Amino acid sequence: MRVAILSESPADEIAVRILADSILGLSTQLAVSHKIRSRGWPAVLNTLPAVIRQLHYTESADGLIVVADSDDTPLHETHHDSEASVDCRLCQLRKKAVDVLSDLPAATFKVAIGIAVPAIEAWYLFPTDARLTESTWRQHLGSGPRPDIRRNLKKKVYGTELPSQTVENQRAEDAAKQLISNLHLFEQHFPNGFGPLAQALRSW
Ligand SMILES: [Zn+2]
Repeated sequence: MRVAILSESPADEIAVRILADSILGLSTQLAVSHKIRSRGWPAVLNTLPAVIRQLHYTESADGLIVVADSDDTPLHETHHDSEASVDCRLCQLRKKAVDVLSDLPAATFKVAIGIAVPAIEAWYLFPTDARLTESTWRQHLGSGPRPDIRRNLKKKVYGTELPSQTVENQRAEDAAKQLISNLHLFEQHFPNGFGPLAQALRSW
């Protein structure tokens, strides 16, 4: 199965592929996809239409996985599934994907979207330090944006706020391999951001 991944960094893509392969029960192949020059949330959202069109017209993928950090935005809630929230990043990505795909009626590849709450480093830390789950983050967010917590996550994972790409890639790979040893527990604690991704992949 050829799967393209659109996320905030090359390291994220390594981790997301390991998680996806575990859920899908197979070893996905890297699909050729759009190279995004800048990374981060706006790039993921803004590049999504071009990536979808490219994958469709080149018939180069069977699936596309999109993952972004929530940062300080509100978590996705199950009631958004019937009424999308304009502030929720999962809803924003879903809407953009649906809008683009509605112009491509013959598109056959599937799309799965997840949000790392509040950042993918919380996923990486979960096997060794499960204190910052989605429910803990929801409580923190109740008192306003917490960039301090997100910075600390990076420090805890990489030992620095500005890791090299090699360190980032290695930590992503190690953490994802640990996560798949108990994916059920991970999904239980990250039900609103990782849960929708896992559910979408299981329907592929
Ligand atoms: Zn939502």
